[in-house]
Amino acid sequence: MTIATHRDDTQLAADATALFTHTFGTTPTGVWAAPGRVNLIGEHVDYADGVSIPFALGQSTAAACAPRTDGLLRIVSQADDTLRLDIPLAEVGPNNPANWAGYIAGSIWAGLDSGAIPTCEGMDIALVSDVPVGSGLSSSAALECSVAVAAYELATGTSPDDTARAALVDACIRAENEVVGASTGGLDQRASLFGQPGHALAIDFAANTFTLVPCDMDAAGLVLLIADTNAPHSLADGQYASRRGVIDAVAHDLGSLRTLPNGAEAARTWAQGEHNTAGIEPEVAARRVKHVQEETTRTIEAAHALERADFDTFRRLMADSHISLRDHFEVVTEELESAFQAAGAHGARMTGGGFGGSVIALVPKDQVESTMAAIAAAAKKGGYPEPTFMLATPSAGARRIA
Ligand code: ADP
Ligand code: MG
Repeated sequence: MTIATHRDDTQLAADATALFTHTFGTTPTGVWAAPGRVNLIGEHVDYADGVSIPFALGQSTAAACAPRTDGLLRIVSQADDTLRLDIPLAEVGPNNPANWAGYIAGSIWAGLDSGAIPTCEGMDIALVSDVPVGSGLSSSAALECSVAVAAYELATGTSPDDTARAALVDACIRAENEVVGASTGGLDQRASLFGQPGHALAIDFAANTFTLVPCDMDAAGLVLLIADTNAPHSLADGQYASRRGVIDAVAHDLGSLRTLPNGAEAARTWAQGEHNTAGIEPEVAARRVKHVQEETTRTIEAAHALERADFDTFRRLMADSHISLRDHFEVVTEELESAFQAAGAHGARMTGGGFGGSVIALVPKDQVESTMAAIAAAAKKGGYPEPTFMLATPSAGARRIA
């Protein structure tokens, strides 16, 4: 069992530059990086006026970029394979390109459309990444945000301030929703663009604001262990959309779930009525809304616990969150449950959208090895893929690195 490490900014910049030069035969104007994120608590509530507490990871995606003047985007990405796509900016839009390149081209398109990116006449982009793909750590936001800050700075000559970053968040969300067609909320992009070392973000999606909360696990003798189950998953498939569909349908008719009294009961009654055109089971609607409302209350409590560095309370709330995601929102797979149970004594929970991905655990420093061993042994016993491990530290948001 090993703990995966990641490249520092100097190495990431060198690798992105080398890929750029190898592919395009010239040198990039600069290199920008944006991190993945881990969500500590507040899951499946970002699209429901809830509260989430993520932090930016040390693992980042780097984009080496240079402007063009002919309207063309040329994109290369070194992931498992080397991916390559050229597309005129004028052709980018809803559902085009609806693949990996849509996260990238879509962010520029949406940024230009909204004015978040003042101008772009084309770009050459070479990407390398340390964010594991499809592990619940938002490789997609890392991709979007690295390119968005690059395009912004190439257009303006300056690094985006908070106002500009907020506009880039919206552009990156649109890339995901409209161009790729993944109906994700705004949690990931905000963490990737606004992350700060030593801090988590407490994001309030009803107010569309966030506060930076000190997150000094180290001082409390704790480490955040991430166990990637390596079970295949994709948010672009129907499961995520179906969970969100229930919440959106109820909120459409009954208003924000944040303030809806007796939400589970109200959702059950709604589902028995004529507005439930999708035929959602009343008990399903009740369970889903129960999760969203309780998770938001729980996450507000967790933010207060974090403010006073009360990690005992925080860890208890993490476990409660997992149980609700399992029993009410029903997004926990066998592999996730196995890792949760194995790490259960330590505030553990699944993180990300579910249906695969990772489990996190806030573990005392001297128990990291034994917790990893327990998770690995449980996976082996269950006949699941071998998990891989990372340690997470609150790190910087999107920035220029060369
Ligand atoms: P997550 O964001 O949790 O990692 P998603 O399903 O939201 O999972 O996004 C994963 C998708 O993002 C991949 O299937 C791929 O299309 C795209 N992607 C992520 N990182 C890269 C990369 N470095 N190069 C190319 N595409 C990437
Ligand atoms: Mg994603």
